[in-house]
Amino acid sequence: MVTTNLIGSEEAMRLEDRYGCHNYHPIPVVLSRGEGVFLFNPEGKRYYDFLSAYSAVNQGHCHPKIIGALIAQAQTLTLTSRAFYNNKLGETEKYIAEYFGYDKVLMMNSGAEANESALKLARKWGYEKKGIPANRAVVIAVGGNFHGRTLGIISASTDPVSTTNFGPFLPGFEIIEYGNLEVMERALVNPEVCAVWLEPIQGEAGVVLPPDGYLKAVETLCKKHNVLLMIDEVQTGIARTGKLLASDYENVKPDVLILGKALSGGVLPVSAVLADDEVMLVIKPGQHGSTYGGNPLSCAVAVAALEVIKEENLAENAINLGELFRNRMLEVREKRPDLIVHVRGRGLLNAVVVNDSEEGSMAWNLCMQFAENGLLAKPTHGNIIRFAPPLVMTKAQMLDCCNIIEKVFLEYNS
Ligand code: PLP
Repeated sequence: MVTTNLIGSEEAMRLEDRYGCHNYHPIPVVLSRGEGVFLFNPEGKRYYDFLSAYSAVNQGHCHPKIIGALIAQAQTLTLTSRAFYNNKLGETEKYIAEYFGYDKVLMMNSGAEANESALKLARKWGYEKKGIPANRAVVIAVGGNFHGRTLGIISASTDPVSTTNFGPFLPGFEIIEYGNLEVMERALVNPEVCAVWLEPIQGEAGVVLPPDGYLKAVETLCKKHNVLLMIDEVQTGIARTGKLLASDYENVKPDVLILGKALSGGVLPVSAVLADDEVMLVIKPGQHGSTYGGNPLSCAVAVAALEVIKEENLAENAINLGELFRNRMLEVREKRPDLIVHVRGRGLLNAVVVNDSEEGSMAWNLCMQFAENGLLAKPTHGNIIRFAPPLVMTKAQMLDCCNIIEKVFLEYNS
């Protein structure tokens, strides 16, 4: 019998450690309930969530509208099979396609699956539309990328933690420096390139923003060289950075848009690849698929999750609160220049870089102190703390959180 409701934090951690693969290194906090911007541990301690499940929970934990849609659909029809039509998929595809301005949508589950699907789509387009010789297609990826954990995806990773002892890797990638237009221009001269693949802001790398104008220039270069621009907005998309997509800041419309995470508001794994007919229709029946991709439950949840973004003006809230947050953190940096090196981000995807090496423990210790004080954040790459709360946060809550963060920084003894 599973007695989930009864076990306390200590036992929950012991069980994960004993029976689970050790593929994560969590902050030692156990969570048993979520509501809006808050998470609670089994003993009832309340925390502000400043990670939002890596930006999946933009709409806040257990959003009533999304959970309502989930329950209603779960009682009606959850999964059929793509061997048949169902009455949810088409209307959901129409809703998502029109929402983001594309002809067509391919629904998948995880962010990694959507990225894998995009890679397959790009290669197929390269052979069938661009005329690249068989098995020669190249995808240009960039250093510091994070697109997921499959073998195909990590074949383009520059992070040794992701790649060590997982080889041999998939060929067909050229990896160039992120943010550098000169190397991009040179790489695009190769006629066997089918796509450029990047994040508009690198979330996992530590909220790394490319220089202003980079995305627009890459879009122009891609058009010039007849290469698809594939933008992974799995983490940056769906209002996180203060616009529907981070690409919107430069009026860039990728040929292939990759979404995940907040597409379901943290309720189910739902991801999607969007493209116009010229690209999407290269995939024919039987050539790609997923048992759960676009199931009726995911469809109902995704539509509700996207409606919430617009109904609650979450993009605008992200802009306003993001500015407030960064201004406050810059003030804290003035007070503790020995601790804080950089404050950066856009909307509510922000990072504070602390004065330590990547191997150091300062960011971890600070996060432990945040948790102690009722706020959950986690270091990425050792010395960078990402701050990404649900977008449903109020101004009063944000001010409360800034006070907590400031207190921890001011009291920290390095
Ligand atoms: N792409 C980006 C930009 C991400 O940040 C992530 C996850 O953090 C992924 C893809 C992978 O998504 P998933 O973990 O759902 O496979």
